[in-house]
Amino acid sequence: MVAEQVKRVLEELAAGNPLGEKVTLVAAIKTQPAEAINAAIDAGITDVGDNHVQEFRANEGLLHPVKRHFIGHLQTNKVKYLVGKISLYHSMDRMDLAAELSKRSLRANVVSDVLVQVNIGCEESKGGFDYAEAFSAYRTIREMPALRVQGFMAMLPISKDEGYLASLVREMRVLFDRAKAEDENVEYLSMGMSGDYKLCIANGSNMIRLGTTLFGARNYVK
Ligand SMILES: *Cc1c(COP(=O)(O)O)cnc(C)c1O
Repeated sequence: MVAEQVKRVLEELAAGNPLGEKVTLVAAIKTQPAEAINAAIDAGITDVGDNHVQEFRANEGLLHPVKRHFIGHLQTNKVKYLVGKISLYHSMDRMDLAAELSKRSLRANVVSDVLVQVNIGCEESKGGFDYAEAFSAYRTIREMPALRVQGFMAMLPISKDEGYLASLVREMRVLFDRAKAEDENVEYLSMGMSGDYKLCIANGSNMIRLGTTLFGARNYVK
């Protein structure tokens, strides 16, 4: 049951990460019906993340009060549907997207909070800045009007080598700490999904995005 899983995970996260930071749980709600999402919210979920603009819009007005995050790949021409409605965009994975969000946010007179996405596993299939260029990308995006960079997001590659995966999280933590040292807005390292969240928290993540663990396996055929 969704409620039991939410409570179990929240209890598990209550200890924080080894650095003494609170770990924020974002429920990844793609393909979930509004009833399941509301059951999760009623059980203690405060933040939910969407992957698709269409689903985000379909759920508008249906969900109990909750912070909305955008965690998926975002097409530049769809930014206009989200501006002013998202508490944190996790997927600033290219400059033209950040520029569009900056322009639209300025025009709407809002400040948008964002994370810079890093392709930490150097995977063809994933978006994000290369690790080597991520810090300068962060600095460039930080200067864009009406954007506030709050940290970084990354997805780990599929691998059975836990030592390798842990080293990637620690590399991300180095990047995060470097930005945090010069910028008080930097607060979140968003790393960790159902298969790897424990490893991510153990190595310095402070925000995780869980779908399957909370809701069970996704049903894409509807
Ligand atoms: C689906 C998704 C998640 C959650 O994945 P699970 O493995 O189901 O926990 C996290 N982050 C992003 C960006 C996702 O698309």
